[in-house]
Amino acid sequence: MPARILDGKLIAERLQAELATGVRAARGHGHRAPGLAVLWVGDNPASELYVRNKDRAGRNVGIDTSLSRHLSGQVSQNELLGIIDGLNADADVDGILVQLPLPAHLDSSIILNRVDPDKDCDGLHPINLGRLVRGEPGLRSCTPAGVMVLLDEAGIDLTGKTAIVIGRSTLVGKPVALMLQEKNATVIMAHSKTEDLGALTRIADVVVAAAGRPELVTGRMIKPGSAVIDVGINRIIDYEGRQRTVGDVDFESVREVAGVLTPVPRGVGPMTVTMLLHNTVQSYRQRLGLKDFETW
Ligand code: NAD
Repeated sequence: MPARILDGKLIAERLQAELATGVRAARGHGHRAPGLAVLWVGDNPASELYVRNKDRAGRNVGIDTSLSRHLSGQVSQNELLGIIDGLNADADVDGILVQLPLPAHLDSSIILNRVDPDKDCDGLHPINLGRLVRGEPGLRSCTPAGVMVLLDEAGIDLTGKTAIVIGRSTLVGKPVALMLQEKNATVIMAHSKTEDLGALTRIADVVVAAAGRPELVTGRMIKPGSAVIDVGINRIIDYEGRQRTVGDVDFESVREVAGVLTPVPRGVGPMTVTMLLHNTVQSYRQRLGLKDFETW
């Protein structure tokens, strides 16, 4: 039987509607709107698309994004740090996101580390990654957290399961491996130096592919009935010369073997934005002490 395809877009829409309901309820009790400031530096067209999507998605759930700023590509490091300091100190701001990549003259680490960890809605601040390592509450990185929500939506109990994460980046691979362990899975971490990837994926009940290699994982590498989450986003030119976006999973062959599979697009991507909104709302709840206001 072909795999069940998890529609990340539909799931994201439902979860965002739940967030919107929670925000409306808080507003109904007289609270201010949650505030998200997206800082976008320079004119990278891909960043423009991402920033507009985040802004629109935020507004749709009732988040105030009016403090978002588009800054000149010539902005100095000190000027940008000053803007972040201002947002850190602003009681109406719950989430701050610095859109990457930054122009070469800016030091991304110094800039990202300046964001107040409790407003770090991207969950990439070293303090939040440290909290994840220690199993403490904190804002979690969006794409890995989105992967975990998808596994949960698929009804997969990870306890005792063998999971493999393909890719060991700080953005995706490492945090998702920690999150899977937190849910009691036994985790294998594969990377570019791993020998015989197929031998490892074939014993896994859960495969999270985050290598950035088009269609690396094929049906022959998959244990029948397993759950396969495809994080990869790769733009390729297909054999007819058309540009296409594909994941790290060969969708057609894997769907014949896996039990659950996420597509690309409409898989993990929409969950990443949803988790950004979730983190902003979570930070808002904490800042305002709204204990009764559940999101999901
Ligand atoms: P990265 O380049 O930082 O890391 C890739 C990792 O994959 C490395 O650890 C590398 O060792 C490993 N790798 C490379 N080739 C491999 C191979 N043949 N076998 C096993 N491991 C291999 O990339 P990243 O930032 O972690 O992103 C990974 C992919 O996920 C990219 O396609 C990226 O576009 C995508 N991504 C998607 C979202 C989303 O919202 N859906 C978010 C972030 C990243």
